[in-house]
Amino acid sequence: MNGHIKGRGTVRVGRCAAAHARDTTPCEGPAETVTVIDAEGRELIGCLHHSARTLASVAGTRLHPLAALLPRAADVYHRAAELPPFAWEVGR
Ligand SMILES: [Zn+2]
Repeated sequence: MNGHIKGRGTVRVGRCAAAHARDTTPCEGPAETVTVIDAEGRELIGCLHHSARTLASVAGTRLHPLAALLPRAADVYHRAAELPPFAWEVGR
């Protein structure tokens, strides 16, 4: 035994708040790219990768209105537009 966690489902710590619980991909891009607002109105500060994936997947999710002022907001929208819903369930 060398202390490694068994199996493939290594627990990642420090992922951004926008990462969906079942999306095991690591963060990508600046850690605080934009603020995503979920259907309950919670503000989730997310990286480029997870903000786009959550936006493409979770009903009622949107970018914070002030995200329009941020240079990466368009990148998030472009990525989201090219993703299937719940990309992590189809291996993307
Ligand atoms: Zn992330």
